[in-house]
Amino acid sequence: MIFVVSGPSGGGKSTLIKHLLTALPGLEFSVSHTTRAARPEEVNGRDYYFISRQEFQEMKAAGAFAESATVHGELYGTSFQEIKNKSEGKDLILDIDVQGARQIKDKLGQASLIFIVPPSFSELKKRLKQRKSDSPEAITIRLQNARKEILESDLFDYLVINGELARAVDELRSIIVAHRCQFKERRKEFKEILKSFKD
Ligand code: ADP
Ligand code: 5GP
Repeated sequence: MIFVVSGPSGGGKSTLIKHLLTALPGLEFSVSHTTRAARPEEVNGRDYYFISRQEFQEMKAAGAFAESATVHGELYGTSFQEIKNKSEGKDLILDIDVQGARQIKDKLGQASLIFIVPPSFSELKKRLKQRKSDSPEAITIRLQNARKEILESDLFDYLVINGELARAVDELRSIIVAHRCQFKERRKEFKEILKSFKD
């Protein structure tokens, strides 16, 4: 199953996903391509594939992206190759913006969409400033976009409010675990159990 996580920048998506990946086996992170510059702590191939605008345009023209969008003035996209490589026998989690979430829902109807919000706009502002990864101008753009993004949240299946971190991680984990417990996801396992009842 594909899980799409979206929400305003600074709301805590990367933090939650990082915690989730250590808390839940069988889950892979989809590494996006982007034209934005790497932050000091970011590693190419782990956090993003950092590429030039020209490389991005060439990939897009070749139909390499399952979804792509311009976010805060930079290009971002999820490649079909990444989905194929990482989703084999695993659940896959995508950290993408609302435009990308919409494209994934349209193309791959099966995806589950999760919206992450901070408890308030002022808390979002505080977190973006504390993160120290964006210039004041970039923070202003991210906050403006946040006001628009939140209005598109009705596209999503689930809402996680990232107030207390441990609780939000637990909610996110529960969404994925509940999905895995659906009958239709467990047919193979159940068949074996049924067989044992007949033996
Ligand atoms: P996003 O990936 O959505 O842009 P981040 O995960 O980078 O957001 O989080 C933005 C900032 O907020 C980071 O400095 C992070 O450490 C902090 N943060 C995330 N979740 C919480 C939380 N529940 N409480 C307090 N600070 C948080
Ligand atoms: P950041 O630059 O802070 O890492 O991410 C900025 C925004 O881009 C976030 O909202 C993030 O979810 C989104 N983003 C990251 N990767 C992708 C992607 O592959 N596609 C789309 N549509 N958005 C992405």
